[in-house]
Parts: sequence; structure tokens; C-alpha cells
Amino acid sequence: MKNRFNNNPPLLYGMVGGGLTSQIGDSHRVALNRDNYYKLVAGAFDIDWERGRQYGKSLGLQSDRVYENYIEMARKESSREDKLNVVAIMTPNNTHYSIAKKFIEEGFNVILEKPITTNSNDAHNLIKLAKKRNVLCSSMYGYSGYPMVRQAKAMVLAGQLGEIRVIQTEFAHGNCATAAEEHSDGAAWRNDPKTSGDSFVLADVGTHALHLATFITGQQVLEVSADRQSFVKGRVLEDNAHVLLRFEKGASGFLWASGVAVGHRHGLAIRVFGSEGSIEWCQEKPNQLKFSILGQTTRILELDSPELHPPAKRLLRVGAGHPEGYFEAFSNIYSDFAEVLLAKLNGEAPDPLCLDLPTLEDGAKGVEFLEACVKSYKKNGKWVKTTFIDQ
Ligand code: NAD
Repeated sequence: MKNRFNNNPPLLYGMVGGGLTSQIGDSHRVALNRDNYYKLVAGAFDIDWERGRQYGKSLGLQSDRVYENYIEMARKESSREDKLNVVAIMTPNNTHYSIAKKFIEEGFNVILEKPITTNSNDAHNLIKLAKKRNVLCSSMYGYSGYPMVRQAKAMVLAGQLGEIRVIQTEFAHGNCATAAEEHSDGAAWRNDPKTSGDSFVLADVGTHALHLATFITGQQVLEVSADRQSFVKGRVLEDNAHVLLRFEKGASGFLWASGVAVGHRHGLAIRVFGSEGSIEWCQEKPNQLKFSILGQTTRILELDSPELHPPAKRLLRVGAGHPEGYFEAFSNIYSDFAEVLLAKLNGEAPDPLCLDLPTLEDGAKGVEFLEACVKSYKKNGKWVKTTFIDQ
């Protein structure tokens, strides 16, 4: 990932949400700026127009490209000669569908935050629409951009773990162990079904844990059995959930999503056990991968380990030992997206290693998973099929 555009980014980029009060906006801005593929030129940054206007000004954008809302942005951008190549959407969950639909209909390529929609019909509609308009869309599962996550996937694919038997994945933090929604807008909308959808932690963090599991193992979840709780008084949606998983190639799994895991900081981790070996990755030590082979001493792979596979090696930016992490992972997703899009625009085949990009279909699988979990919980943990069909 090197700057090969002489400080002249080839892709014009706009943002919906991501303004002054946004949690995730900065991560996107760091990601888009790192490898010089994108130039941020437009945005509807905020639900509050004055705050959004000021924010666009503070970024140095032209005032006629800072918009009051996404509808105005889509209309005015689509009639410009120098119109945007990419629109990234990072607003509360319930708004994703209408905003993404609008931009896809207008022919824009879209990077969409997760969960991509609040129901699977909408998710499938976006997939169909994106195909019809022939645009590139990605869902922002940023954790799949870590080199050691790509390494884990490559090791499973190479058969180094043997047949996958057990997959345990968790995103369990303690940031909502008290009523965070009383003093944080971000926590408030996440705990309101009107804005979050039918789940809180499963949607907010569980979908990331799910994506890691399916990304690394290449197996989709067929059925779930879910239990969930709202521990903090007054909360409508769950702040903790345990989900048993049945995977398509026979693996058995478990997913834990939580906001009440006191003492867990970010709490994203995965363990995959095969017939011949296992791996364990924890986001708080992102550049290490624990690797065990049956009958051998457990090893910790580092970013300079000779065993690294090409999908991981290509993401290394500095010498091993430098603490790279979260922001670089986000950047890797952005840069893969740019490479795939530029190849498409130039009529070329993309570098196959860029195709690990999380897709809209991955986003839809997350939404199907959420629906299945809610159904299962309502039936006291009965096994419920996830019915995602690639269309
Ligand atoms: P937030 O509450 O911190 O920020 C939301 C922002 O969206 C606010 O600034 C608000 O003014 C703006 N907004 C709301 N409606 C809008 C509209 N119609 N048009 C323009 N702007 C609007 O929320 P957040 O934590 O930044 O989360 C936003 C989205 O990103 C959510 O879907 C969340 O699930 C996702 N997210 C993803 C990750 C990740 O790792 N991929 C991490 C955090 C959040």
C-alpha cells in the first residue's frame, strides 16, 4: 500500500454522517486519507444542518459541496461533471437503507456502515439495486482488514488447521454496563428500536464477531439458537447475548456479544479449532496470532514471521514491532475498495488479493443473522435457520 498517485487522489469521495459528534467519522477520514486514493470533497455530515455546515467548512470543503441533507447531496452531486466516485454512509442504523438506496439509484459506489439495514428485505433490495445499477458497494466490517485476520483466513484455506470443528467468536465490551444512553446520543439511539432495529449489542458488535468467523473460516451460519438479556434497568434491547451457531460445513460455534462485560475494553476475539490445529486472535493484541498444531508447542506468529501468507504480507506497512492496528485495518479496507473500483473503472481485472473486501452480501448475512437471533430468542432459544440466499 504505497502512495502511487503523487498526491493526486484518483477518487472523489463524499460522506453522509461522520460529522463533529460522530464516533466513527474520524476512522473513515483517517482510512480514506492514508493511501492517497481518495479526496474528500463533499458531505451531508450531520442531522443538524448548522453543525454540519460548520464541520464541512472546518474541513476546508467548497461551501457548495456541503449539503443540508443526503437528498440534496445525491441530487446535486449526480448532476455535476466532477461528481463523486464514492459515497460513504455512517449514520444511525435505521437511516442506512433510504440513504444507500438513494445514492445507489443515482449510480454512486457506496461504502455502507454495518448493520447495513434493519431488515433483510431491505438488505436484499440494496443488493439487487447495486447489481442493476452496476455499482460497487461494501459493508464496513473493518476488522477484516487486520493482517493477522487475513493470515488466519489464509491458514484455514491452506488446510493448516485441518477440518474446522469449533468456532468461538466474541465481541464483548463493558462500555454499557451502566445506563450510558442517559448521557451519550450514540448509546441512546443504539438502545432505541426505532433507530437501532430489533437489537442492540448483537447488531452493534455481534455482527462484527459473526463476520470475523465467516470471513476466517469461509463457512456461513445455517442456524442459530439465541439467548439474550437486558441487564441494565430500563433498557429495552439486549445488552448481552449468547448465540449457538451451526455452520454450513458442519462446524459448531458460539458467539458472545455484550456491552456489560466489565473489565473487557474492546473485547473482540476469535478462536478456531480444527482437526489438526487451532488459531486464536484477540484485537487488543492485533499483530499476534496464536497458532497450535496437534502435538507441537504452541507458537505466536508475529508480523515478521516467515509463515505469513501473501494476503497478510501485502498489508504490512512498517517493520514488525511497530504497534499498527485499528486505523490501518480500516485503511486496508478502504484501499482494497479503491483498487477494486479503479480496476472496474479502467476495465481491468482487480488484484485478487483485494477481493477480501467485505461485500454488501456480507452485510446482508449479518442482518439475516440478527433476524434469526431475535426469532430464536422469542421462541426460547429454538434453532432458527438463517435464510440468506445469494441472489
Ligand atoms: P454517532 O451517534 O456517534 O454519530 C452519528 C452521526 O450521524 C451524528 O453525527 C449525526 O448527526 C449524524 N446523522 C444522523 N442522521 C443523519 C442524516 N440523516 N444525515 C446526515 N447525518 C446524520 O454514531 P456512530 O457511532 O458514528 O455510528 C454510526 C454508524 O456507524 C452506525 O450504523 C454504527 O453501527 C456504525 N459504526 C461502525 C463501526 C465499525 O467498526 N465499522 C464503529 C462504530 C459505529
